[in-house]
Amino acid sequence: MAYETHFSHAKKRVGETPEDRARWLLSQREGGPGDNLTWELAVFLDPKADETRLQLPSAVDARDLQQLVSRGLRTLLSERRRKTWQLRITETYELSLSSHNTIGVKPSSSLEDKLKRRIHETVVQVKDRIRLCCRRGCVKLFVQEDGRQVYCSRQCAGKERTQRFREKKKGKQSYPHRLVLTRSKVRL
Ligand SMILES: [Zn+2]
Repeated sequence: MAYETHFSHAKKRVGETPEDRARWLLSQREGGPGDNLTWELAVFLDPKADETRLQLPSAVDARDLQQLVSRGLRTLLSERRRKTWQLRITETYELSLSSHNTIGVKPSSSLEDKLKRRIHETVVQVKDRIRLCCRRGCVKLFVQEDGRQVYCSRQCAGKERTQRFREKKKGKQSYPHRLVLTRSKVRL
């Protein structure tokens, strides 16, 4: 693929709004190969960079960064609840002598720290709209399109409706709706 094509694909996949960026982030849970991963990560790390200034991580770094996201999301969604995903950021400053015999100070940030900052920023922006899907058996976080959405997808909403209908027909009592609502609240 040509340079611009990679770039525009990545821009499209990651998106511009905080909601889009959060959706992209959540989609990294499985940590699949993703043929455009380095580009998408570069766009996520530096949303304002145009294609000439974009810094691509190496394939190895990209893989490590994706693993970081995927591990974090899996920790959040693990069966043993109340597990937290901790984003530890180390602050490093580089002091150096310039050729004019003065001292320069600049912050140094690793790719990993940069990614952690972006994750934090994205999640904080949309956290009130990130929910865990209410369908029993589905362990998926999603970004609500509107405040009433409780299932991650139409498929899950449909499956849940069918399940409830079957249970009603058998005379089984459905589990209380409040439980559903509790489950949908995820703290990040
Ligand atoms: Zn679902």
